[in-house]
Amino acid sequence: MNICMVGTGYVGLVTGACLADFGMNVVCVDKDAAKIAALQAGHVPIYEPGLEEIVAKNERAGRLKFTTDLKSSIEQSLAIFIAVGTPPRTDGSPDLTFVRQVAEAVAEHMNGYKVVVTKSTVPTGTGRMIEQILRERNGRHEFSVVSNPEFLREGSAVSDFLRPDRIVIGASDARAVEVMQEIYSPLYLIETPFVITDIASAELIKYASNGFLAVKLSFINEVAHLCELMGADGHDVARGMGLDRRIGSKFLHPGPGFGGSCFPKDTSAAADLARQNGYTFRIIEATMEVNRETKARMIDKIAKAAGPLAGKTAAVLGLSFKPETDDIREPPAIAVASDLDKAGAKLRLFDPAAMENTKAILPAAHYAADAYDCAAGADFLVLATEWNEFRALDLERLAREMRSRTMIDLRNVYDPKTMKEAGWSYTGVGR
Ligand code: NAD
Repeated sequence: MNICMVGTGYVGLVTGACLADFGMNVVCVDKDAAKIAALQAGHVPIYEPGLEEIVAKNERAGRLKFTTDLKSSIEQSLAIFIAVGTPPRTDGSPDLTFVRQVAEAVAEHMNGYKVVVTKSTVPTGTGRMIEQILRERNGRHEFSVVSNPEFLREGSAVSDFLRPDRIVIGASDARAVEVMQEIYSPLYLIETPFVITDIASAELIKYASNGFLAVKLSFINEVAHLCELMGADGHDVARGMGLDRRIGSKFLHPGPGFGGSCFPKDTSAAADLARQNGYTFRIIEATMEVNRETKARMIDKIAKAAGPLAGKTAAVLGLSFKPETDDIREPPAIAVASDLDKAGAKLRLFDPAAMENTKAILPAAHYAADAYDCAAGADFLVLATEWNEFRALDLERLAREMRSRTMIDLRNVYDPKTMKEAGWSYTGVGR
């Protein structure tokens, strides 16, 4: 089957490469000519474990191609996936301009039956909007619109795509469901559950899922704050809660607040969607408020541990919003680094993958070669993103580089008791 993937970003490139790996002929289209030129030259423009290999393998096999030519890609494909960005507007609602542009292009260029699949995260009602665009602008050809939200996580996107917890397909006709089942047939073989539903429900499943995960994160961050006020250990409380299988241990780690390309924008979009329908989604509103407060509290925590910040040298380890990605959309780490900068601290930064992307935001900082170089001459160290390579640092070597043994560990990577015994002034979150 020929598939056109419009939008070759974190989701589109991973989805395109993985569907090619399933045996489909995939053409990935992007309006960013530099991105497409890089991919055509064999360079994967984002950092995502395993992605380079799967892209190269499927390109070699002739099943994966890259182009900026949307017209011919639409003409030659049965299924057209929309995987473009849906960034937040200032009022929190998602900007659907790119989705609309792709729907209009499909309407203009469709030359027979097409299945138009939304992979982008979009509010309920977007499927109906796409149907309307196709019907009004091209009455000549049959089409089906499908909502197929994506749940992959950056940092483990390829393995998440190949072994998902579930596939959600929202469609209004059996023909489209059949096409989708054929596309995902390798996942049937490994008994992946399929949720086949209507378009509106599929669209809402994505916001409800991300909203719920965000609630869990804000909940544990509030518990952690209570622990700090009351002298309890948030790490132990989270563990004690998470072992209850009704609760589960995932997304129950106290930290500096949630960030990234999805949770902040999807929670505001869910709140906006509710408002548009005359309802206040109170839990989501509270979750966002708690998250804002959690993030803002981190600079006070650092100042309490390190003393007045003006003129001090801060080493910050980790910049991306989570480990194993170079994505710097709304990372708590960069919020903390920016707050340190505003407070007059000198910044030394290190991240295994996200430094190039960060330079535009914090141009005056020193970008270090590794964690120890980052710590050189620092008055205190902030562990902001828990990359694996920061989990087993040589603490004595680190201390030799620094002016003082002060660590603020926003990810609770290190054990407070061990750190204290080793002579560190150590501050975690909720402990
Ligand atoms: P991204 O910014 O990495 O990629 C989007 C790509 O679309 C860009 O390369 C952009 O140039 C391209 N594009 C925009 N308009 C276009 C057009 N008219 N024609 C061709 N290309 C166009 O974004 P992303 O992180 O891949 O997210 C895409 C969607 O998937 C969003 O709705 C997001 O919410 C959703 N999503 C993201 C993740 C994630 O972890 N990143 C996970 C699940 C769902």
